[in-house]
Amino acid sequence: MDSDIRIDTKTVHQKPVDYPVHPISTPIFSSSTFVLEDADHGARLSSLQPAEGKSKYLYSRWGNPTTDVAADMINQLESGHRTFVAATGMAAISTSLFSLLKSGDHLVAATNIYGGTYEVVTKVLPQYGIEVTLVDGTKPEEFERAIRPTTRVIYAETPANPTMSISDLATIAELGRLNGIVTMVDSTFASPYNQNPIQFGFNMVLHSATKYLGGHSDIISGSITVDGEELEKKVFQTLKLFGGTMSPFDAFLLIRGIKTLAVRMERHNQNALAIAQFLESHPKVSRVYYPGLESHPQHELVKRQMRGFGGMIAFEVEGGMNAAKKLIENVKIITLAVSLGGVESLIEHAASMTHTMVPKEERERAGITDGLIRLSVGIESAEDLIQDLKQVLATI
Ligand code: PLP
Repeated sequence: MDSDIRIDTKTVHQKPVDYPVHPISTPIFSSSTFVLEDADHGARLSSLQPAEGKSKYLYSRWGNPTTDVAADMINQLESGHRTFVAATGMAAISTSLFSLLKSGDHLVAATNIYGGTYEVVTKVLPQYGIEVTLVDGTKPEEFERAIRPTTRVIYAETPANPTMSISDLATIAELGRLNGIVTMVDSTFASPYNQNPIQFGFNMVLHSATKYLGGHSDIISGSITVDGEELEKKVFQTLKLFGGTMSPFDAFLLIRGIKTLAVRMERHNQNALAIAQFLESHPKVSRVYYPGLESHPQHELVKRQMRGFGGMIAFEVEGGMNAAKKLIENVKIITLAVSLGGVESLIEHAASMTHTMVPKEERERAGITDGLIRLSVGIESAEDLIQDLKQVLATI
């Protein structure tokens, strides 16, 4: 820098880093904007034209090298056309819905979906003149019956939060294809390790990457994977204008989490199956919901569309609400907290915590009784977790 430049300018303008370097881990590009080589470069990127031989980055709400690495990793895992990462799972869900629905359009959504999504489809979308029909996510015939000429999106979640009910991916995708309707699924509970909805014909796959993809309970994040160019354009437009894009700092942690997804999921799958079997055989447990159990009413369907059964279990204890509260307050290794998909086991009471915004009759229809406990099985020793549950079950 010239010696006659004043201190105010020197503090702001550092010497440019002499790239390239080849770090083994992805750097955090915490830059809101990117240097343009000339005016034409800026004009081309601003009008979404390629800039041959020049950087493709303009402004981080539109795209950022660190968040792009996270998005590409998820895209590989889901075998998508393109993946976008979002600030939260809810940003991914609302961005996806708003990219496709406008006033006068109709949405068919499963009732058994995450509580926040339920609020968006039942309270927010109707405020914008979007009509919504809720159906039982386990019954493809209900989705079919609800279709109207104005239906633009079919929305499902599988396995569904919290009772592990399953939507038939191939049948619902075919319904969408035959009727020219976009099919969208929240695949958070499965993670891309256990299930890839695009392989069954779904058009869009959403994740709360806060959960298994991140895997360490240290970020809030989301992802949207699309199967083609038309959806790519619509989602990109809404994401950059609504602004629910991911921070590069979160993307760094997400990338680090994804690197161990396979080994973590392997352990989540094994631990959860062992715990579900233990709970099913326990006299004080009246009901266990786990896709990997033969007693799961849709176990055959589960085996057709999932490679592993995941780490999420829901169960009911004898003694209803009081017994459920006693259990979640007295476990010692398992921690009382909402959320899921991290390395540590977490337990919560669905009706009063994650699903309190769903009306009681609706909850009960979806199997979310007052005695229902949701357990996110971590990667600790399965024996220690079983011992922890055994000691509390003995006291209730
Ligand atoms: N989808 C599912 C299945 C969830 O469980 C959650 C949160 O718990 C969300 C979406 C929302 O994700 P986030 O909290 O990352 O916004």
